[in-house]
Amino acid sequence: MATEPSKKSNGKLVKLSKKDFESDQDVRWCPGCGDYAILATVQRALAGLQVSRENTVFVSGIGCSSRFPYYMNTYGFHSIHGRAPSIATGLKVARPELSVWVITGDGDGLSIGGNHLMHALRRNVDLNIILFNNQIYGLTKGQYSPTSKVGKKSPSTPMGSIDLPVNPLAFATGAGATFMARVGDTDAKLFLQILERAHAHKGAAIIEVMQNCPVFNDGAWSDVTDRKEQAARQLVVEHGKPLVFGKQKELGIRMKADLTPEVVEVGEGKVPLSELLVHDERATPVYAHMLARMSYPEFPVPVGILRADPQPSYDETANAQVQDAMASGGKADLKALLDSGMTWEVGPHGVKH
Ligand code: SF4
Repeated sequence: MATEPSKKSNGKLVKLSKKDFESDQDVRWCPGCGDYAILATVQRALAGLQVSRENTVFVSGIGCSSRFPYYMNTYGFHSIHGRAPSIATGLKVARPELSVWVITGDGDGLSIGGNHLMHALRRNVDLNIILFNNQIYGLTKGQYSPTSKVGKKSPSTPMGSIDLPVNPLAFATGAGATFMARVGDTDAKLFLQILERAHAHKGAAIIEVMQNCPVFNDGAWSDVTDRKEQAARQLVVEHGKPLVFGKQKELGIRMKADLTPEVVEVGEGKVPLSELLVHDERATPVYAHMLARMSYPEFPVPVGILRADPQPSYDETANAQVQDAMASGGKADLKALLDSGMTWEVGPHGVKH
């Protein structure tokens, strides 16, 4: 993928800034929506990475978040409900030199699009997938979504939701995701680090963003993302470092004999650091799944890069097969292919093979 800056001034290449990634469209999200912060951070990240706009594509489905491609000064598709991963897969296989990003939400990506998301992840297509999780259908005025909490009252669940919510990253682990991360919508510092790593990752990278919808589900994440409380309620995972959290890093995560995690107090006369779990991005999916499922208030919510285990990507492997076929088969003959084997004729007396 080309990473050269693409803006020219007097015939010279100059560095791209965040502004260069902003389109001329008015941004039409509700005032205070978490989507603004996500958009600004992605634009900053791409400027920092100096990706070429002409080699960058954002593909979205349907929903508030899916307006994203209009606001990026790159190529983009505002595509079909839930199908962004499939369209992005085709694009990446056909044009492997492109940097392809998928923008989806909890409704788009985990309800109608759950199947498509699963296959993009298990095939390990080299895509960067940002899932805006606001636990509600915002665009259609506030119906409960696959990630809404039990008891959530909405126009479609007037007595409270009785569905157990989908955990996006637990779903991703089940689908074999090779990169998964989680971050709060306004945590630009951590989000930038994650975007940089996702961009460098060869394979499907999924990022769950805990996004606030102030109109239809205000504060759904505030227990976890509140600035004053987040040190005690978020667990920032870093490769090779013990799982510690709290304002003074006075708490940690230890594995019990029954292979379930527990919160312990760390320090002199308490549990030594050496007994804590040490974060390993390449550990088994079982560990990543355990992290993905940890939720407040029983546990702090893990944020950062929960898993990064590069594996051959689908687009690479598919294109290698094409190259092999061309090298060994000579010039392709479509008619010969269509006439070869497994053909039949339908006549008045049935099918003749
Ligand atoms: Fe954002 Fe919610 Fe408004 Fe949609 S409905 S733009 S998610 S605040």
